[in-house]
Amino acid sequence: MSLPSRPAPPPSRVTVVGTGLAGLRTAAELRAQGFAGVLTVVGAESLPPYDRPPLSKELFSRTEPVWLADEGYGELPALADELLVGHRAVHLEADDDDARLAVDSPDGRREVASDVVVLATGAGALTVPGWRDVLTLHDPDDAERLRERLRPGVRLAVIGAGWIGAELASVAAEQGAHVTVLEGGPVPLGHVLGPDVGELVVPWYEAHGVELRCGATVTGADAEGVELADGERLAADVVVAAVGVRPHTRWLSGALPLTPRGAVPVDLAGRVRGGPASVRAVGDCADRTSPRDGLVAGAHWDGALNHPSALVADLLGTSGAPAPDPAPYVFSTQLGHDLTVVGQVPPGAEVVLRGEPGAGPWTALYVTRDADGTSRLRAGLTVDRPRDVGPLRKALSAPRHPAVDVAAASDPSVQLRKTLTPA
Ligand SMILES: Cc1cc2nc3c(=O)[nH]c(=O)nc-3n(C[C@H](O)[C@H](O)[C@H](O)COP(=O)(O)OP(=O)(O)OC[C@H]3O[C@@H](n4cnc5c(N)ncnc54)[C@H](O)[C@@H]3O)c2cc1C
Repeated sequence: MSLPSRPAPPPSRVTVVGTGLAGLRTAAELRAQGFAGVLTVVGAESLPPYDRPPLSKELFSRTEPVWLADEGYGELPALADELLVGHRAVHLEADDDDARLAVDSPDGRREVASDVVVLATGAGALTVPGWRDVLTLHDPDDAERLRERLRPGVRLAVIGAGWIGAELASVAAEQGAHVTVLEGGPVPLGHVLGPDVGELVVPWYEAHGVELRCGATVTGADAEGVELADGERLAADVVVAAVGVRPHTRWLSGALPLTPRGAVPVDLAGRVRGGPASVRAVGDCADRTSPRDGLVAGAHWDGALNHPSALVADLLGTSGAPAPDPAPYVFSTQLGHDLTVVGQVPPGAEVVLRGEPGAGPWTALYVTRDADGTSRLRAGLTVDRPRDVGPLRKALSAPRHPAVDVAAASDPSVQLRKTLTPA
């Protein structure tokens, strides 16, 4: 006879690793939801928690970090019993009942034992071995370095037309730099938006005074320029790699399962899939499985902000309800446009446009067909059209993707919510 499983008792010692948005929000949620035990927070950076999105969008207009405490997200010294900043976790041993971290500091190594460890170690900018003196944009030091060097007339080569490449190209061009963006794929943001919608973004570059070269595979880079696969050498004064991120999880290999991109695989409550019960993960270091959207990669500010609440509610047993599954949500300001992507864009989805690109605000809806012919909304991109964001987030956060009346939805004068039917 099997005994009914009983919920695990709430932990009395919790350690949070990482002092970015996800780590700070986890610490704040623990206290807000009544955790009265011992809270230790370990962070590799010596700076207090700061916000990353302004580093690119406001590179020249905000020269100091935007501190998360000033934005109302909480203060670590008031939340933690022990705050180990400038300390890097280098090893984890965990079973279902407890977790032991080895933590390095300038004074040596020490062990931190807890009932539960929450990993919120984020992700770092990818660099390519062999590329020398190539900059990245990930933290305030990177931003400072770029501010010093990106003077009017400077030739900037940005490798990668993803989110950060496009945002950096925008502000550098506004500052008077001569900017060339080199993208290996056929269109900008193709891996996120798909080829058809990526194509609609191309004209923004020229309109913003940025040269965009797609299908340009960079084979070498140094402080004086980049080399392309066809042998061409492009001279530049500053070269920045914006080619993606990798989760800060190398130190965990062997201790936990990792997804192909090196993230910790988690469920909606941040529990590690196939891992010990004493470890949870949240924010950019985690890939979560959504019953609705499948595997959703971390790397969204909104996830670092909002997922800690469900993780903590599950950990402390403060919510009887299952963890919510909010639609993935990314925002960006680039090349004179405000963008949001809501939901997970499936490959091969049909694209339905609301509004005319190039002639004002527009939204792209990504739609798939059920076997019975029902059109189902899977994701949406809004461009300068904030009024579609709320309905998209609400509809795409429901347990199933809503049905969409494609003819009605393609008329931008019809309210989006009126074209959607919950499943
Ligand atoms: C320039 C820039 C612009 C961005 N703009 C947008 C945007 O417009 N929209 C959007 O949705 N997202 C944006 N993002 C992404 C967004 O900022 C991240 O999704 C978010 O900051 C993730 O927060 P996090 O706490 O998970 O990770 P992080 O902010 O990376 O924090 C992780 C912390 O953990 C520390 N750490 C790592 N390893 C260890 C260890 N072993 N021991 C101790 N500490 C460790 C790190 O040093 C870091 O301080 C942007 C990112 C950058 C870099």
